[in-house]
Amino acid sequence: MMELERLLKTRFGYTEFKPGQKQVISSILAGNHTLAMLPTGTGKSLCYQLPGLILKGQVLIISPLLSLMQDQVEQFKRFGEKRVVALNSFLSATEKNVVLNRLSNYKYIFISPEMLKVPFIIRKLQELSISLFVVDEAHCISQWGYDFRPDYSKLGDVREKLRNPLTLALTATATKKVRDDILKSLGITDVTKVESSIDRPNIAFHVEEIRDYHEKEKRVLELVKRLEKPGIIYFSSKKAADQMAALLNEHSDCRTSSYHGGMDPNSRILIQQQFIHNQLDIICATSAFGMGVNKENIRFIIHFHMPMQMESYLQEIGRAGRDGLPSVAILLFSPGDEILPIQLAESELPAEQQIDWLFHKLLQDMQSGESLLKPELREQGGFSELQWRLLQNFLEQLPDNFSELEDLKGTLKAYVYERLTVKRNNIYRMKKWVESKTCRRQGVLEYFDETLSDRPESCCDICGFDLHNYHAANKPTKMTEADETWQMYLTKLLNSL
Ligand code: ADP
Repeated sequence: MMELERLLKTRFGYTEFKPGQKQVISSILAGNHTLAMLPTGTGKSLCYQLPGLILKGQVLIISPLLSLMQDQVEQFKRFGEKRVVALNSFLSATEKNVVLNRLSNYKYIFISPEMLKVPFIIRKLQELSISLFVVDEAHCISQWGYDFRPDYSKLGDVREKLRNPLTLALTATATKKVRDDILKSLGITDVTKVESSIDRPNIAFHVEEIRDYHEKEKRVLELVKRLEKPGIIYFSSKKAADQMAALLNEHSDCRTSSYHGGMDPNSRILIQQQFIHNQLDIICATSAFGMGVNKENIRFIIHFHMPMQMESYLQEIGRAGRDGLPSVAILLFSPGDEILPIQLAESELPAEQQIDWLFHKLLQDMQSGESLLKPELREQGGFSELQWRLLQNFLEQLPDNFSELEDLKGTLKAYVYERLTVKRNNIYRMKKWVESKTCRRQGVLEYFDETLSDRPESCCDICGFDLHNYHAANKPTKMTEADETWQMYLTKLLNSL
């Protein structure tokens, strides 16, 4: 086992394993299929990076997020590992061919699930000897998961076609039901589970009922004046995030910016970097903010709106206190707050009338000999990008007769209905937690089928955690001089290129 420590030091430059890493790596090297649930930021990637150095064949990593995949590839290159490639829609047809023809030269192959639908690519993968099949963000497999991806549900078939290689499923947030579903879907019966607790003892919970939106804004102004910074305030709407950021810049001395998907990529990168380098005290963000932000000293997370599910809530509050120092998660809610997330959930899926309209059009097309889902139908039917992606997935191969088309419509409607039910259920469970009069920490843990063993002193509002005293205990230290100025950072960045 000393070998593992040596590799960790010489190849990755780390002195010790983070919790869970070694168990996962040892389990894989012992030839066991492994399901690892480790919190974000604990270094899940190392769990396949390191075994890859020891195992003989290729490591195939299925990852749903293109941007994350690019990050991972960069991370490998920093470690001096060049035998790594990402097969996704960023590659041109020519590049893809070049890569596919020399696939066996790579050690680590990242691939997006949609690429695995191409029979030619599967044949190419079958020619390799895959020694580790990694499913990143494995909760996307389960339809009970908050982030279910239809593409992911077919990974069991893919795995079978690749002769059931040794498998590692990785996730940060999955309930027991989802974890069971992951294994079932992948066709794994015998498995080693490495599940670290999702509890974050240094984060205290505080939930507060506020009369209405306007009062919430006032309360945020009051809170941030007293709370130690930096912090993130999460919103369900871009507009609300922008408004609050403007208010904070006007009425407080906190350096604040908003951050959401509606901004151009360059501004987003800039804001993220400014926050990381202490040039900003507060980010007013939508859930688009946070992935890949490894900032240790975030002192508070405020939820201005209720998140759509416990999994997202846990991910978002988990960005606080990575340094282990006291931090606080505050959730503000007003009666009726569940309406917004329900509307959001509904808007992610096509409505029944839209489906009827679309199938009427498809029938007409079929009668005139067309067998493709025409792109112009998206605008005509008023489908959002998300809705359209789902439809494309469903309607990839259109049937050529009326009764099959009718069946497909039925299947699609049933699917939409089921997803809505899951999402509504998630929102109601979140609301129940907000309104509950029992320990908040325990409630979060229970959701993930864990029990609370050690209650920290600063637990939650229900257990007597007093936000007012907390303020006094953590006297705000105003960040006057930033650790490093933004200009210095830029110079350094440019010099390193
Ligand atoms: P996750 O996917 O779990 O969020 P990553 O794999 O991206 O996390 O790793 C998070 C960070 O932790 C990265 O910056 C990585 O380089 C670092 N890291 C991983 N393992 C170790 C370790 N054993 N010691 C120190 N840092 C580590």
